[in-house]
Amino acid sequence: MSLKKSISSLKLPHYKSTAGMAAVRMPIPKEVLIPLSPMNAHHATMSEPIVQVGDHVTVGQMIAREKDRGASHIHASVSGTVTGIEPYAMGNASGTAIRIESDGKMEKCPDLKIPQPANLDEFLQCVRDSGVVGLGGAAYPVWAKLSAAQKGHISTVLINGAECEPFITADHRVMLEHGDLIQKGIELLKQFLGSEEFIIGIEENKPDAIAQLTERFKDDPAVKIMPLSSVYPQGAKQVLLYNATGKVVEKGQRLASLGVIIINVSSLVKMAEYFVTGMPMVERIITVDGSAVKEPKNLIVPIGVSVRDVVEACGGLKEEPGKILFGGAMMGKPQESLDAHIMKATNAVVIMNRKEALKTEPSPCIHCGRCVAVCPLGLNPTAFARAMELEDPAAKAALLQKEQVKVCMQCGCCSYVCPAHRPLAENNNAGIGFLRKWEKEHPEGGK
Ligand code: SF4
Ligand code: SF4
Repeated sequence: MSLKKSISSLKLPHYKSTAGMAAVRMPIPKEVLIPLSPMNAHHATMSEPIVQVGDHVTVGQMIAREKDRGASHIHASVSGTVTGIEPYAMGNASGTAIRIESDGKMEKCPDLKIPQPANLDEFLQCVRDSGVVGLGGAAYPVWAKLSAAQKGHISTVLINGAECEPFITADHRVMLEHGDLIQKGIELLKQFLGSEEFIIGIEENKPDAIAQLTERFKDDPAVKIMPLSSVYPQGAKQVLLYNATGKVVEKGQRLASLGVIIINVSSLVKMAEYFVTGMPMVERIITVDGSAVKEPKNLIVPIGVSVRDVVEACGGLKEEPGKILFGGAMMGKPQESLDAHIMKATNAVVIMNRKEALKTEPSPCIHCGRCVAVCPLGLNPTAFARAMELEDPAAKAALLQKEQVKVCMQCGCCSYVCPAHRPLAENNNAGIGFLRKWEKEHPEGGK
């Protein structure tokens, strides 16, 4: 991977009209449908249900157990009755979900206890029990990321508060409203990981969060608040690492081998909350915005609530929806209808009206090179496009491997700048999906 010196220079409109809106709790929904995966992606891992239809469940009770490192424990987000364990389509993937009819009581699971870990192993086990995953979108279990500390010393923890995507302000509100939990999270990582340096990277378009956290940590020399220029994709792992520390992680290299881990600020807060309350991950803050939404808001929502209920809590729609996204305008995952359900990794629901959702028809590439010039990772999206046109699957895979398609973080910068409106990021995503499948089927020559 060849990172450029002037990394991430794309200036986007922010559309962060909800930044000044404190997160409010939405009404208790009549039912939730909790997907057994934290995100909608073809590589997401499912957890195993441990309840049956007809069971009574309480808030925080484990209802599905992780199957491997990529999955997380799933907990009931409302109290009530399990009415279904059923197939669920999730964007470009499919899986299973547990349906719970709410009894309206939000009765807490009586078995919940405040964790008291005595050493790193116990701490990691507690984080594992919490079911917290990366809430910035990646959805990788936090315990698995922190477990890198067992293999080597993590000197620097980079806390991602950049939130560079248009529309989304959920992390911004977390930084303003939960400074105490950010502090608690840092204390836990100091105690159990032994990390000495904590950098909280925040884009300059959040001056109130920068000021508040600078004041909170003014007497702690281990914590540095780092204002970052408001350019996209400032919050991407590789970009943030480079801009905050000057370090570059090479392809195939583990971040922890540099003595660094990156954790999203909302993930840190959710983890800390578990150690304060004993309540595992059953809810989160999301931003609801977009031209079709009547009253954009930051909402505290139970995992598994339908987009329809979320929209209802925002006064409904003022126009027919043209596009429904989980996430922001650049990297958001399209959803087919308001019947989609909030997952752990859903940080925003952006609903655009039909006019805004209209796509401009792509025209032939004019070889201007803008997509290559803008890519923060120095990749060549036109080469991926060329590869995807090849009929021979082995040749296609070889070219995709050579051009390192799997390094692409799907930030969308290349599509954004393309004057021919070519769907480059979508093509990259298809290329990654093809290559993953091909490598699985050809383990001997796949890597
Ligand atoms: S989406 Fe485009 S700009 Fe972004 S990393 Fe991938 S190739 Fe580069
Ligand atoms: S930006 Fe668009 S038109 Fe220009 S080289 Fe890339 S794909 Fe071709």
